[in-house]
Amino acid sequence: MNRDDEIDYKSIVEWRRNFHRYPEVGWTEFRTTVTLVTLLREMGLLVHVGTKVINPSFVMGRDTKLVESAIESVKKTLSLDQQKILDEMQGYTGCVAVYDTGRPGKTVALRFDIDCLSVSENKSNDHYPVKQGFVSERDGFMHACGHDGHMSVGLGVAKWLAEYGEKSGLSGVVKLLFQPSEEGVRGAKPMAESGIMDDAQYFLGMHLGFIAKTKEIVVNPNNFLCTKKYDFRFFGVPAHAGAEPHVGVNALSGACNAATQMLGIPRHGKGMSRINVGVIRAGTSRNVIPAFGELQIEVRGETEEINTYMANQAERIAQGVALGHNLRLESELMGEAVDLNNDQEMVDMLSSLVNQDSSLINVPSRSFGGSEDATILAKRCQSNGGKSLFFVVGSNLAGGHHQSNFDFDESSLLIATKLFIASLLTLCESNK
Ligand SMILES: [Zn+2]
Repeated sequence: MNRDDEIDYKSIVEWRRNFHRYPEVGWTEFRTTVTLVTLLREMGLLVHVGTKVINPSFVMGRDTKLVESAIESVKKTLSLDQQKILDEMQGYTGCVAVYDTGRPGKTVALRFDIDCLSVSENKSNDHYPVKQGFVSERDGFMHACGHDGHMSVGLGVAKWLAEYGEKSGLSGVVKLLFQPSEEGVRGAKPMAESGIMDDAQYFLGMHLGFIAKTKEIVVNPNNFLCTKKYDFRFFGVPAHAGAEPHVGVNALSGACNAATQMLGIPRHGKGMSRINVGVIRAGTSRNVIPAFGELQIEVRGETEEINTYMANQAERIAQGVALGHNLRLESELMGEAVDLNNDQEMVDMLSSLVNQDSSLINVPSRSFGGSEDATILAKRCQSNGGKSLFFVVGSNLAGGHHQSNFDFDESSLLIATKLFIASLLTLCESNK
């Protein structure tokens, strides 16, 4: 599978560094999406955006004000042609590129996530992006999880398809899903619910780094925790704390009460479970009965059953506290991911591709221990009768994921691109 000379590694690295300079958090990836759409269309691919790829009814954790101000500030930097793409997007980030071979065959969906984190990047001179001049230009935002690399791999695959897809005898259709808002596991569900990948017989996704070093490929990572994220908002009645405390309804005490009860949910006996109350916000002034209290929480579970148990318990506590304290409750689901069950046929395929390349190390399995919303897309494909695989392409890291000194080894971008292409060749050849 030596196709190194067919892969535009130089551009992949350039794209990665460009995305790294302009990181955007979930649902605000407007510059990022416009850049992707422009490049993919230049390559000759059909690209869908807006509500064709994002179903607004399933969008989670999207702050309208943040989105509007992001559109305004990005608009100023765009050319007229690029502004047209922005209009096409209808306020929703992400895009799906379609490469149709024109020959009958299977449809394969590949997923690449595109958002950054609210992390301030390390500015010291020994940090590689500083040394090479591609450090984040947006203070407080950083590609600290490698999604800049994921997108560039996606573009690398797209460029290869445009140049060699025909010659290599591929059949069927390849869909490249550039998914917004993975952090907080918010973007996969609305992309799945758009139906854009419902014709896919195969789904492939990957993450760089995390649990493996450069050249190591974890073909079947395990321990993906299902998760649900909620905001619970309690609304009470403000009152003078000295003169009329009996008139007020205290939302702060409700929020605190709910928080401590949630942390005490009995754990499930069948496997791992987690709960975290990460944010509590309430009150306005020392002498006013607090009329508002908010909790931002998440639950996780090894299986959907355990996760649902934790989520139901947390919701019931919020409802019970609201009732007991005479508060009005607003609950909002802010993010969701499920567990991962890679299909053996897909695991075997990747495993044999890795084994064919003597420079790579096959790591059959290793614990992921986090959550990833690619699992929602993987499950969607499986529920439509398709087969799915999510794998890890190892990369030596300068600092851990989500940290200000995070950086990965760019040579892993080439490895990831090669593996996607080799997978496409295998999956599409087996159709013949
Ligand atoms: Zn990530």
